[in-house]
Amino acid sequence: MKLEKFSMGIGDRFGHQGRAQLTAFVSAAKRGVHVTPVWNKSNREHLIVRSKPAAVRAEADDAVSELGWTGAYRVDADHIGMATVDHFLSVSDFFTIDVAEFIGQGSHESGADDLLKLLRKVGLRPAIAGLSTPVELTHEKITDIAHKYLAAVKEAGRVYRHIEKARGRENFITEVSMDETNHPQTPEDLLVILAALACEGIPVQTIAPKFTGRFNKGVDYQGDLAVFERAFNDDLAVVAFAALHFGLPEELKLSIHSGSDKFSIYAPINKTVKRMNCGLHIKTAGTTWLEEIAGLAAVGGDGLTFARELYAGAMDHLDELCTPYASVIDIDRTALPSLQKVKSLTGEAFAAMIRHNLQCPAYNPSVRQLLHVAYQLAANAGDRYTSLLHQYAQPISEAVTENILDRHLMKIFA
Ligand SMILES: [Zn+2]
Repeated sequence: MKLEKFSMGIGDRFGHQGRAQLTAFVSAAKRGVHVTPVWNKSNREHLIVRSKPAAVRAEADDAVSELGWTGAYRVDADHIGMATVDHFLSVSDFFTIDVAEFIGQGSHESGADDLLKLLRKVGLRPAIAGLSTPVELTHEKITDIAHKYLAAVKEAGRVYRHIEKARGRENFITEVSMDETNHPQTPEDLLVILAALACEGIPVQTIAPKFTGRFNKGVDYQGDLAVFERAFNDDLAVVAFAALHFGLPEELKLSIHSGSDKFSIYAPINKTVKRMNCGLHIKTAGTTWLEEIAGLAAVGGDGLTFARELYAGAMDHLDELCTPYASVIDIDRTALPSLQKVKSLTGEAFAAMIRHNLQCPAYNPSVRQLLHVAYQLAANAGDRYTSLLHQYAQPISEAVTENILDRHLMKIFA
């Protein structure tokens, strides 16, 4: 199973927007922008909303048959490891093997020898086309990088082989992710990691490194755009080189775990991918859930009441909701409006605070991030929440489609 050149990971916490999401891909394809949708959901999300991996498969299959989508589509077991992969084996055909927690856990000598041999083949100063600064390796550098990443690669191998045994080699796509860590990988790191994955026999099709800058949940990128563009360019160059020289699948491409809505890097990404003529996978639009909340606020009545109550609940459980996400949110608590203030707002005004419209003066990134991590509260509301989603399905699904089509797909891939 091969992943197409361009693919986008979409999240849908409550599983009601599959059709609205796919509608965006249909419209993009009509405009000549062909992107494979990949529905992704992590074990953590499943636990929090009390859903099952089979529900994501059903959502994807239903959307595809309802809309008559004839293109490829995938279902991603997002951020799985040995402890969590089993629930996903029968329903997913894309596996994001997350080995970030194994980074820095020491090296395995046997693996290091094979790795040195493979790297020697391309030389210590490999001629990598398109790099902004040449990669220069030394034996010492390779040993250091191997020491840092080899345990993670070995673990990826164990998980990969476990999946392979259950599904058969040709029946799934493998991603390896190392993004949930504090330190971005350098092009040298990435080159050595890819060589190590090749030595480990993992036919990795997408690799998710940690990029430079802040990728906070549901809000824009924070960091130096020029630095990002250079690092992204160099990562693409290294990935293309590794696919060619290490015997990895020719489909190998970068995967950006964006944390959704990194609007300001979309233009540099679009430009760089075109220039390098390479593929890309980007996970975004976990904010489909925020479109639901903004949509409910905007319709007024019981929708607005629910959105206000959700905000009140989130304020009540601020620490509890924010702690698990501490490394990927930056909420300015002084910018959070009081409950009284929120009560005085019209539905449209409250929705404007939540919607990710950087041009709108009412947009409040702290409110947006807080609500983004508060989906557990909507899960706790159970039927009351899902029946509101049914009641206001039309305006919400239109907002979901428009968000994915205009703010993501067309900006990244057109
Ligand atoms: Zn990730």
